[in-house]
Amino acid sequence: MQECSVERRPIVAGNWKMHRTLGEAVELAGAVRRGLGEGGSAEVVLCPPFTALKAVGDLVRDCPIRLGAQNVHQEREGAFTGEVSVPMLRDLACRYVILGHSERRTLFGETNEGVRGKTRAVLDAGLRPIVCVGETLEERETNRTEEVLRTQLTEGLRGIGEALKEAVVAYEPVWAIGTGRTASPDQAQEAHAFLRGLLREMVGDEIAGSIRIQYGGSVKPANAAELFALPDVDGGLIGGASLSAESFLAIVAAAG
Ligand code: PEP
Repeated sequence: MQECSVERRPIVAGNWKMHRTLGEAVELAGAVRRGLGEGGSAEVVLCPPFTALKAVGDLVRDCPIRLGAQNVHQEREGAFTGEVSVPMLRDLACRYVILGHSERRTLFGETNEGVRGKTRAVLDAGLRPIVCVGETLEERETNRTEEVLRTQLTEGLRGIGEALKEAVVAYEPVWAIGTGRTASPDQAQEAHAFLRGLLREMVGDEIAGSIRIQYGGSVKPANAAELFALPDVDGGLIGGASLSAESFLAIVAAAG
């Protein structure tokens, strides 16, 4: 298989999940902004809850930090009580949207088909999806990791074509999310290389070589550098450790 020599800019995104009230979010984003200064070589994205998007967006407007949302509805508008649309996120200067996070899949019934519809909607509006995939512990222990990753990635991104070059994929083994248990470098590299191989089948060498694949799952300052140095790991999607500016900034620094 031909290797692509495209430079991929690492991307480190903080997924704050359902944490931080408005005031707390502003405080945290402010601390990240101050600590980051002019920024380094990694792209930095903050994904606060919907309620804090506007305030955090205002705070990071003139600095290298990008704003991301944690979910979106695929329709532009309509009778979908409780949902938020892509145009609403674009209004707030959101650049990224996390899609298919394992918590959305397991707790809220998100399907690969749903991820596909949302991915299309996000890309059509000029935003960038961060599409999460990952196997459970049981799936890994029964040697089904590749089968699960193949299904999630190919079903979730089917038919998107060239627009996929704007997408980010996040490999997040479910057993590593919020557990303190991290994939070993070998496990992470193996899964990322497998995902890149699938992307090659879907969109060819050039685009697949340019798509960033983040690792997510208990990334901490102590393990980030080792993970981010892997050839197919292009930064991280950070949950718990993104709730402290100090640890998030240390992780960002590890990405270069
Ligand atoms: C996540 O939820 O995307 C995540 C990676 O969480 P944590 O870093 O806490 O494992």
